Amino acid sequence: MFDEIFYSECLYCSTAVMYRETICEACFSEIKKVIHRCRLCGYPLNVEAEVCKNCLESKYYDKLFIPFWYTSVVKSVLKKIKFRYNIKGYRLIDELVRKNLMKMDRYDVITYVPSTFMRRFRRFVHPAEYIANILSDIYMTPCEPLLKRVRNTSYQWRLKKKERLKNVSEAFTPKKELFDLKILLVDDIITTGATLNECAKMLKGAGARKVDCYVLSKGLF
Ligand SMILES: [Zn+2]
Ligand SMILES: [Zn+2]
Repeated sequence: MFDEIFYSECLYCSTAVMYRETICEACFSEIKKVIHRCRLCGYPLNVEAEVCKNCLESKYYDKLFIPFWYTSVVKSVLKKIKFRYNIKGYRLIDELVRKNLMKMDRYDVITYVPSTFMRRFRRFVHPAEYIANILSDIYMTPCEPLLKRVRNTSYQWRLKKKERLKNVSEAFTPKKELFDLKILLVDDIITTGATLNECAKMLKGAGARKVDCYVLSKGLF
């Protein structure tokens, strides 16, 4: 019982760690950072290449900032905070964001990909909103919901590429006019970029001058 005051468990493997530590060193070293990126937009690439597929097609977002691959600890913690209340999980995400900042522009407003009502209902916290609020705090930039879902979509990872595009097409609508604003759009996971692209299209349609995106992780699908 005395030990509990000074020791805690690794969020991922349950090894004992010092109190206030979220994960052990072994698990920390397993976190996979994004190394290769598209030269034009920053889309994470598995191997070194110049330009990503999105940049060859019609793309509405400007730059992407994605620090991690959706594997090991990152995958686990994003699942944990999604489906149940997890203070340690929130703290780890806070650390991952703050300790891996990328050189970003200044923005007028930070926003996030909205969750559906059903998904929101099951969760205590919407991860994209949680991450957006951390960035809002770091950069002292207001965080505001600028998009709303007009219809529910299926989870992107369940779908094939063509279905993904159809799934998100016109699923979002802007809440107001965004005269000439520079916006940072936030999400927790990116699959192909179809959702972000659709959101960016809506934000630009409402008048945004620039839409960059911060996403915590890129799935390997
Ligand atoms: Zn561990
Ligand atoms: Zn690109």
